[in-house]
Amino acid sequence: MTRRDALLSGLSSAALFGCSPAGLLNGFSRITGDSARLAVGGASFGGDPRLKLDVWAPNRRSSAPLPVVVFFYGGGWVSGERGEYGFVGRAFAARGFIAVIPDYRLVPEVRFPAFVEDGARAIRWVHDHIAEFIGDPRRIHISGHSAGAYIGAMLSLDRHFLVDAGVDPAIVRAAALLSGPYDFYPFTEQRGRDALGHWPRPLETQPIHFVRRDAPSMLLMHGTADTVVRPRNSERLAAALRKAGAAAELNRISTDLSSQYGRGRGTMGGEQLTGNEIEARMGTNRNPAQLREMWTSWNNNVGSPMRQEYQRMVEIANAGARELGFADTGAMWRSKYDMSPDEFAALTERLWQEVRPLYVELHCFTRAGLNRRYGNAVQPAEGPIRADLLGNLWAQEWGNVYDVVAPPGSGRPAYDLTALLERAHYTPERVIRTAEGFFTSLGFEALPQTFWERSMITQPRDREVICHASAWDVDNVNDLRIKMCTRVNADDFVTAHHELGHNFYQRAYNTQPFLYLDSANDGFHEAIGDTIALSVTPEYLQQIGLLQQSQMPNAEQDRSLLLRQALDKIAFLPFGLLVDRYRWGIFSGQIAPGEYQAAWDRMRLEYQGIRPPVARTEQNFDAGAKYHVPASVPYTRYFLARILQFQFFKAACDISGWHGPLHRCSFYGNREVGRRLNEMLAMGLSRPWPDALEAFTGTREISAEPMVEYFRPLLGWLREQNQGRRCGW
Ligand SMILES: [Zn+2]
Repeated sequence: MTRRDALLSGLSSAALFGCSPAGLLNGFSRITGDSARLAVGGASFGGDPRLKLDVWAPNRRSSAPLPVVVFFYGGGWVSGERGEYGFVGRAFAARGFIAVIPDYRLVPEVRFPAFVEDGARAIRWVHDHIAEFIGDPRRIHISGHSAGAYIGAMLSLDRHFLVDAGVDPAIVRAAALLSGPYDFYPFTEQRGRDALGHWPRPLETQPIHFVRRDAPSMLLMHGTADTVVRPRNSERLAAALRKAGAAAELNRISTDLSSQYGRGRGTMGGEQLTGNEIEARMGTNRNPAQLREMWTSWNNNVGSPMRQEYQRMVEIANAGARELGFADTGAMWRSKYDMSPDEFAALTERLWQEVRPLYVELHCFTRAGLNRRYGNAVQPAEGPIRADLLGNLWAQEWGNVYDVVAPPGSGRPAYDLTALLERAHYTPERVIRTAEGFFTSLGFEALPQTFWERSMITQPRDREVICHASAWDVDNVNDLRIKMCTRVNADDFVTAHHELGHNFYQRAYNTQPFLYLDSANDGFHEAIGDTIALSVTPEYLQQIGLLQQSQMPNAEQDRSLLLRQALDKIAFLPFGLLVDRYRWGIFSGQIAPGEYQAAWDRMRLEYQGIRPPVARTEQNFDAGAKYHVPASVPYTRYFLARILQFQFFKAACDISGWHGPLHRCSFYGNREVGRRLNEMLAMGLSRPWPDALEAFTGTREISAEPMVEYFRPLLGWLREQNQGRRCGW
């Protein structure tokens, strides 16, 4: 069977086989009736006598412009004649299209790319003239068979042909192609070699090479038993287009979800508040009705509308993960830790169990404080804690309610870091300079001048920015920057130390090969910054002149500092764990789309022992109201970082020869700590993370023991305070 016969059998009945071209036309007339006519025959679209085309139009006059199809016939680039394809023109015209059938020059008169360029000229002619036939020049579609499908695919995918012919490639809206060769290099057939084999860059002859995410929609059809042009051509091109399209859709949804989050608003007393404003107010507001309004409006306005798109995002991301050989996206995320996804899940569980007793005592103590402040109606003495009462929009860190939960008459903190900074007339830049000073005291080189010129250190007045602090290494060498809306207060003082930890880490590994330009695992990056932040101890503040000897805390005040730390560091752990456990469940399908909200509430209760202040339904999607979920940033890194930072901190204190209680240690100015730290940092991602851990700490195991040791003085006291209370929820 010839290719043309194959085409015919696809389009019509077996009765037409063996007919002359005229017979074919007649045959089709019977099928289509007299609903189509040849509007123009043999219009010239170029200088060569071969460059002529026919235009077919519906018989019935239309006042509105009609969509256009340009059909390229096949024939192995060596044969074919537009007159043989009148039946195609009639068939399309009968269905309401203006159909154009061009000839093109053939081998051996010409070779690639001449026949594709001829096709582009035909499109140019259509663009310029088709309105005369009541065709719509903005709705041009391409169709083709075999060698003609090849021309159609090249015109659809490799933009340069239409650009060179003087038309915008975007005017081609779609392509419907039958049995074309799209991926056939190296050439195994003489016909391919004759037509294309001379071209010096053979990939440029292959349509699949030009797949792009913004390609026109394509319909690819192929007979499965075709031995002339094998069906794998269409299969491969389809797979490549799907992949590019999925990447484009994923990209669009991700951008959309992130920008929805960025534009999100909540309210208080009807007043519109940005996310930054709500975060700040929930830290200080103590009115339960207003807290509830802020919490509810934020979750309803930001999370709920994302639900559909998030579900779609999960589908596409999972398809991509499976193509890479992972069970789902969650397994892919868990695979980045030099162990199997299951081993990694088990590791996080072991760490959580090591610290969970601390969390339960802290929860019990905090709940009692909230009950004392707000009464049974707002916060009962038993059961879960109301999520909006903890001084944080997500109840992830509770340090802001220290003043509420610290027992009356207990030691006040010896100092207020915010007040110290204000008294010393710190500016945002000086906050950052001080953090830099910590690193240089360890022997690290100062930040480059460009850091100070190019960073965003304070919030610009003229535009809205996401204030979520971040650290960048723009050229992977020395173009380090931070983006931060720095205010002069205790939180940002600590955050500055954290962010610069990222910058110094980035620079330490900048001589590694490109693929290793990252931390040993993603928890390491967060942990390094936090290790330095932990070093903001009274001893350190004294060393840099912020605190006087007379202001150093006594034992009771010391416990207050620890409690303040625990309310942030310990309280965070179950949240740090559940954000990804929740998403692992969604990616694996364990959590169905119909229970996104219920599963979130269930896990918040199970891990954190908190409950929403108002009833939630499956209209809601509170997880979406947490930045990292719409932004698709894995979260377990923060859990690991919380554990690792104490391990790093203890190692630094051991190296520096510190003997007192761990939480008072400062290794400011210790060059040996800096040298050993740099050894770990400089490895980047070039070695498995246990190697990096060992270089600095001497052990290959992540352990929560240093964290437990750090808070041990507090744990005993919490247990005393909780005597007689029924802890847990
Ligand atoms: Zn960070």
